[in-house]
Amino acid sequence: MKNSRVQQRTLDTAVTYLSGVGPARADALRRLGIFTARDLFLHIPHRYEDASTVTPIAKLRIGDDVTVVGHVVSKGVLPTRKGLRVFQAVLQDDSGLIECSWPGQPFLDRTIKKDDVLLVTGPVRFFHGRQLVPREFVNLGADELGTAEGRVLSVYPATEGFSFKQIRGLIERHLDEYLPCFEEYLPAPMLARAGVPPLPDALRAVHRPNSLVAAHYGRARLAFEELLSVHVLQARAKALAREARSGIRFENRRDLTTRLKAVLPFELTGAQVRATREIVADMCSDRRMHRLLQGDVGSGKTVVALFASLLAMENGCQAAVMAPTELLAEQHARTFTTLLAPLGIEPLLVTGSLGAKARREVAARLAKDEPVLVVGTHALVQDDTQFARLGLAVVDEQHRFGVEQRGALAKKGARPDVLLMSATPIPRSLALTLYGDLDVSVLDERPPGRQPVTTARRPSRAREKVYAFLEQQVEAGRQAYVVLPIIEESEKLALRAATQAFDELRAGPFAHRRVALLHGKLSSDEKDATMRAFRDGAIDVLVATTVIEVGIDVANATVMLIEHPERFGLSQLHQLRGRVGRGAAESFCILLGDVGPESAERLDIFVDTEDGFEIARADLRLRGMGDLFGERQHGEAMFRIADPLRDEALNDVAREAAAELLADDPALTKPAHKPFHDVLRKRYARAIELFRVG
Ligand code: ADP
Ligand code: MG
Repeated sequence: MKNSRVQQRTLDTAVTYLSGVGPARADALRRLGIFTARDLFLHIPHRYEDASTVTPIAKLRIGDDVTVVGHVVSKGVLPTRKGLRVFQAVLQDDSGLIECSWPGQPFLDRTIKKDDVLLVTGPVRFFHGRQLVPREFVNLGADELGTAEGRVLSVYPATEGFSFKQIRGLIERHLDEYLPCFEEYLPAPMLARAGVPPLPDALRAVHRPNSLVAAHYGRARLAFEELLSVHVLQARAKALAREARSGIRFENRRDLTTRLKAVLPFELTGAQVRATREIVADMCSDRRMHRLLQGDVGSGKTVVALFASLLAMENGCQAAVMAPTELLAEQHARTFTTLLAPLGIEPLLVTGSLGAKARREVAARLAKDEPVLVVGTHALVQDDTQFARLGLAVVDEQHRFGVEQRGALAKKGARPDVLLMSATPIPRSLALTLYGDLDVSVLDERPPGRQPVTTARRPSRAREKVYAFLEQQVEAGRQAYVVLPIIEESEKLALRAATQAFDELRAGPFAHRRVALLHGKLSSDEKDATMRAFRDGAIDVLVATTVIEVGIDVANATVMLIEHPERFGLSQLHQLRGRVGRGAAESFCILLGDVGPESAERLDIFVDTEDGFEIARADLRLRGMGDLFGERQHGEAMFRIADPLRDEALNDVAREAAAELLADDPALTKPAHKPFHDVLRKRYARAIELFRVG
């Protein structure tokens, strides 16, 4: 049985039929999602060890991370006091000797022989002299000194019971045999435009690269296909969703919206005009709006939401704006009340702290079929709030809500239009990739007259001076924030740090001022009370953890002092800085503390620019996507090889290629596209289910 299978070798051959795979290994491979030969060869290295730069042994210095090649002149297993057995080998090259030490791996004594040539990578440390602790090594066999030069080692995602070296061995053993089974199925002109090699060449390059450049060239082909696939899926999903997404067709009556424009105390920015126009077009079409309005802190999203709300209202519908905190909901309600007073419209406010009677009154209003604007917290989606005719659902700071909460608001009406807003600036390409079936509007312009916030980094020894500066601002009638990081290891520690800072400031430099403390352990009532007091000018210096991040518009606050700035992500710092610079007076953001050179470099990006998009980009580059999104987006799981941000150029080509492909063949039914279509169906079965694509 086994033999006949091997003869008709195909990519669908189960890995269990490959020589070198027993039941235990088959189990391990299954855990890695590898079932067939195809899966095995598409299991590609997640990194490479570049052995093309080999250091002469004599040149090794303590603390260096190096690759050396040498032959084994002596070896043995040593017991240690702790009972751990250590395999040691002394390597020699033309320049000298080095001891290598593998703690806990006495079994290596059986496979590594005297005179074997080893290629070893790892840090050099001091232990009775120089010692190299291999992170990995390759046994190049009998004396062939020099053969390893120029080699790049592939490191594979591995699992218990099947090390990356064993996986590498298995792939190496079967690669030549199976490579001819892979055929390129993407059109050659498309690959040429993306600048990537055909599939078989790509696979050879990623598994057996001659150089790092070659490995990355090969990887690019696979990344490109992944990006292309996702764009094809999402474009299809978007088209289908659009067809299925019938919604309310509003009419642009130019009644309330035009009246608001007339009384607005400022001119809309070009970006606001553009976004509003996009939203109006969506709302006036007969399909359901599903739009993300994305704009940096202070870019003026609220007023755009207000225009959308008025459009719904002048069509006899209700509009709801949901915000993540009571404070923010209150702030919106006040803004709307002021702006809408000349129009004779009074918005309603729904929060958890509304009294029973007031709540009943609001409920009665919402149950009546009359146009109304309601602002609130997630109390809006609780069961006892019913809308007679919800036409527009706006979710502010949408990333602060779970998928269910966002959905719950939309479910309060009969297919209302949905506008999501986010202050977390995400590069457009990434937004498109992650939020496939959302349309996106971007506010990439700030309202005029906003002063830049003077930002500076100061060492600890400048603390006195910094406090003196704060005092000077407070003396001039301004207010200041002092922010401390949440220390990941312990909430308690964070609280202590904040409390301590609070006590110190209150006892010392600001003894004669009104100082308050705000942290996450307070009840939301207490938090709101403190924020209200600050807003009303009853507090001079507010010491806080990051709970103020999605805070409030306090125009009189002019200083943001941030302690331990190295513990924050750049986007988070940017959000914090956005709390000041909201009034006419000059504002300041001071990063206080001693940081290492790497942090300094990162923080200086923040100091040097106020462009939230640039900052988000740097953040993503430096810290990865996890920090930017509170929750994991399902989009992430679709990328195993590609990184839509790092591969931005490739991603752009892939998006265009997907659009062209679908323009030519919307359902990929042409014979030439069948192999790719099959691959898509197989590989993205789960995602297809998720997007419900044909
Ligand atoms: P965000 O996008 O962060 O939600 P907001 O909507 O809260 O920003 O707007 C920030 C501030 O800018 C508010 O005080 C708002 O009144 C003001 N603002 C909005 N648009 C303009 C504009 N076009 N010109 C001047 N000020 C504006
Ligand atoms: Mg806002």
